[in-house]
Amino acid sequence: MSEIDESVNAYKFLQNFILSEQLYKTAEFDAKWYSSFAGFSRMIDHDYCDHCSANSVFEWNCDQYIHDMFCKLAEYNTDSQNPIIRCINDPHRNQEFFIDYLFFCTGCKRIHYYTLMFKGNTVTKIGQYPSFASKEKLELKKYKNLNIVKKYYIELMRSVDAYSQHMGIASFVYLRRIYEHMVEKEYAKLPDTIKKSNASFDEKMKAVDKKLHIIPPELDTQKSKIYSVLSKGIHEYEEDECYELYPAMRTIIILMLENYLSDKESKQQLEEIEKTLKSK
Ligand SMILES: [Zn+2]
Repeated sequence: MSEIDESVNAYKFLQNFILSEQLYKTAEFDAKWYSSFAGFSRMIDHDYCDHCSANSVFEWNCDQYIHDMFCKLAEYNTDSQNPIIRCINDPHRNQEFFIDYLFFCTGCKRIHYYTLMFKGNTVTKIGQYPSFASKEKLELKKYKNLNIVKKYYIELMRSVDAYSQHMGIASFVYLRRIYEHMVEKEYAKLPDTIKKSNASFDEKMKAVDKKLHIIPPELDTQKSKIYSVLSKGIHEYEEDECYELYPAMRTIIILMLENYLSDKESKQQLEEIEKTLKSK
């Protein structure tokens, strides 16, 4: 691999790790990349700015301190044949070094903070502000007053918090409770001719999906798999499995909420039209 390709890979790795990785995640990389890290001067992120109340461009610019720190780390983690250099570098090799990345909103100068801990050939994300959770919670706010989720809205927020802290089972349990509630409520609305008194959750979900199409048609080929994942009891999954399943479960709940929201909005629009016409 050429030096330029190597540097591009190092850049992509670092940028993705800072901006997209979950908190407390540790990743390994080639210690040779420290000299590339020292050479990066600028990074750009597109993120929501709660001060500008809009999506904005956030910019990070390297400073002397970060540059020097990476130069030192590059030195400490290079194998040298010289016993004197080895003697100087080796004690620092597995020492922890902390670096703060400050991304400024180009609109209002608000800062998004990320703190990384470098140790040998590993990096761990140990801090982030605002958290992924606060951004996601903001996006979910529009569903707050929907009747279907009113009682469980707080649990929807807690699931986001739990997921952002890598608590797979907790995040999954909250979503699963909301999902069960929505399916049960919709099933109760179905005509008696369709309903069965002893229907299993799986049967209820299939009947509701037939009416509401809660599983997107694009996922038709995966439908039976999705049904089986969603109908399994929460006690059947391990921590990591729950963490992996969370995004799928979340997407399906969001799709259901989107349906309710657009129904509510169309109803409001129709009422407005009726009101206007009546006044004429
Ligand atoms: Zn801003």
